[in-house]
Amino acid sequence: MNEYMEKLKDEHDLPDEAMLSVLRTDAFDDALFAAADAVRQRVYGKAVFVRGLIEFTNYCKNDCYYCGIRCSNKEIQRYRLDKETILACCANGYTLGYRTFVLQGGEDPYFTDARICDLVQAIRTSFPDCAITLSIGEKSRDSYRAFYEAGANRYLLRHETADNAHYASLHPASLSAENRKRCLFDLKEIGYQVGSGFMVGSPGQTAENLLADLRFLQKLDPDMIGIGPFIPAQNTPFANENAGSLALTLRLLAVLRLLFPHALLPATTALGTIHPQGREMGLRAGANVVMPNLSPTETREKYALYDNKLCTGEEAAECRACLETRVRTAGYEIVTDRGDVRRG
Ligand code: SAH
Repeated sequence: MNEYMEKLKDEHDLPDEAMLSVLRTDAFDDALFAAADAVRQRVYGKAVFVRGLIEFTNYCKNDCYYCGIRCSNKEIQRYRLDKETILACCANGYTLGYRTFVLQGGEDPYFTDARICDLVQAIRTSFPDCAITLSIGEKSRDSYRAFYEAGANRYLLRHETADNAHYASLHPASLSAENRKRCLFDLKEIGYQVGSGFMVGSPGQTAENLLADLRFLQKLDPDMIGIGPFIPAQNTPFANENAGSLALTLRLLAVLRLLFPHALLPATTALGTIHPQGREMGLRAGANVVMPNLSPTETREKYALYDNKLCTGEEAAECRACLETRVRTAGYEIVTDRGDVRRG
């Protein structure tokens, strides 16, 4: 055990077999959390960065088996925000101190490249000191370049699972792990700060799959890594599957902090959804980012990626206050600058 912990702390890596042992047992958890917190405090101190999340459309042309906004789900009401509403969300976030806006949505054909570029330019002009993050799925390299030139700085695209067969069991045949990975490498090459990540406990996931996720991330070397438990969503093929566990998610957060000392690791809404103190526990296990919701209260419950999602009834300011308290209770401090990655 000590040998594993020493290696993780000193070399920020472990051989495959040792990594699998760590993933498969709770025996190391306390040591992992303490080591992860020490590394995080060394690199980022007690700082927790905020990213204001704007869920601007729940239309999606894809049909991912786990996702509540998949195109086959006819039970949800679809919405998209117009430019003025999105800019108003940003202005509200700016007042609350946020200097990063994340525009996330389904893959909505209405938002052509021209419309996304127009939106990004408008935000760039109104908020020149803010980072603009897009999270709108798989696009061509040319599209990614156009968004970048319009003023986007960051892109979030979880790889979901690095294993081809496991990927194929979570997605229809029109989507592939290979294309998703291609997107991530294109984004990096263009110059984006890139965030990737995966769901923990998605149906059929094995410890070997998780090991493959870690190895893929080591190859990609992203700036941000978003992980959260899989949570079943009604009216999807996985509606009756079990949710991913709190313990495994926390263990993986700690392992990620040790493998990637400089990474930005969010304590996600999904983590807060499976346990009332999930995000606080995530922060203590190595996470250093929170993503308060800036979407208009009326549309929040329609962005139902999974059941019982948090904060659907709140105003942006309430979200901000709630997170501020949670971060402080966990022993950390919210910082409202752009929160750029600190490379070693
Ligand atoms: N269309 C964008 C945004 C997807 S939603 C894209 O393709 O990247 C953002 C993330 O929510 C997904 O990457 C996925 O990891 C997560 N997610 C979707 N459904 C989920 C579920 N049922 N449980 C937990 N996380 C889910």
